[in-house]
Amino acid sequence: MNYKDFFDKLEDSLEGSAHLDELANANHDPFRILISTIISARTRDQNTRKVTKRLFTKYKTPQDIANLSEEELQDLIYEAGFYRAKAKHIKETSQIIHEKYDGKVPRDFDKLIELPGVGRKTANCTLAYAFQIPAICVDTHVYRISNRLGWTKSKNPKQTEKKLKQLIPKDQWIRINRLFVKFGQQICLPNNPKHEICPVEDICPKNFSMEQK
Ligand code: SF4
Repeated sequence: MNYKDFFDKLEDSLEGSAHLDELANANHDPFRILISTIISARTRDQNTRKVTKRLFTKYKTPQDIANLSEEELQDLIYEAGFYRAKAKHIKETSQIIHEKYDGKVPRDFDKLIELPGVGRKTANCTLAYAFQIPAICVDTHVYRISNRLGWTKSKNPKQTEKKLKQLIPKDQWIRINRLFVKFGQQICLPNNPKHEICPVEDICPKNFSMEQK
């Protein structure tokens, strides 16, 4: 399998940009990308966009956000799923970045993953979108589509990440999340995927076994 050709083919068939891609394309700073990735968990792109815009219109830096109370943060991000827990994590993470890292998001997986509210997915998304460092961010779309394509037979995102790293050349890693999020929103939908217009239908085994378990 030539993965570069595969991703080129997807790219040609998809429109627009998903939220994190938009932020990265707009050259927004790594802090905004990190916080928006925390906000995006279990939240639709349109709500993540809205909440990120509202928060960063007034408050720009880790220090600004660390100075907000949890209640103020909750009011600013209430359209996001689990907004109470996220408000707590965003405040704590902002505080650590301000105090320990001099206001700069660390470019290091092990340091990122120690921040409150930051798991493997958020750490990898931040590396890929904010710093263009090769990383595979396994969200719900990447997990589902990798299994359907037969690239992985994983029970969890960590296994998917490991397998994809073995299969796919490193220079293609940062394309995976960007393309699979759009692909998962436009064609390979969670329910009723549009096989009839799928550009890679001819090589897809349509493996839904992991979704039935
Ligand atoms: S053929 Fe269907 S299941 Fe396979 S990638 Fe395309 S839309 Fe998804």
